[in-house]
Amino acid sequence: MHNTVKNKEIARIETLSHTKVADCYQCGKCSAGCPMSEKMDILPSTLIRLVQYGDIDRAASSTAVWQCVSCLTCSTRCPKSVNIAGVVDVLKQISLEKKIVHPKIKQVVAFQRSFLNTIYRNGRTNELEMVAEYKIRGLLGNPNPFFALKDAELGLPMFLRGKLHIKFGAPVKNKALVRRIFAKCQEPVTE
Ligand code: SF4
Ligand code: SF4
Repeated sequence: MHNTVKNKEIARIETLSHTKVADCYQCGKCSAGCPMSEKMDILPSTLIRLVQYGDIDRAASSTAVWQCVSCLTCSTRCPKSVNIAGVVDVLKQISLEKKIVHPKIKQVVAFQRSFLNTIYRNGRTNELEMVAEYKIRGLLGNPNPFFALKDAELGLPMFLRGKLHIKFGAPVKNKALVRRIFAKCQEPVTE
């Protein structure tokens, strides 16, 4: 990829994550503290290295960006105050924009979309609605009948512990405020 395009992509990531990736000197503290690193195909410190080199597509198409649980441990541990978690968030966004989400991770994306959609509609989570949307999205992406039943054994124990509300909807009163928060998050950022 041409250097100007690479530099523009790096600059956009830095603007959106409010950080300077060039400050990273590869000490590895972020990867050492990451609770998800054992599952990741690319370590957080390596993701930062790839962004430094402008290899954004390789970083954004990793499973790691969607396995990140946004715990912020990496950003807190970094001696150079690099906001690794913020960079990972932007890489997630880029993977969706460029349609380069790793094929192994499509169910994770379906789950996160279902979660956000229920918040958008109700202003809070509604487990039944979220699970129904997730299963429909998952089945559309992978028409496997076993997928619909997967996790079903968790339903009853969750219900008995009061963790599963069997009612669709139940929105908050001020839904307009929730819509405004979503709209604000989706505003384009000026560089
Ligand atoms: S902790 Fe900071 S400086 Fe060290 S590798 Fe991670 S991002 Fe780079
Ligand atoms: S925010 Fe993500 S990358 Fe950073 S430590 Fe947590 S799981 Fe790992």
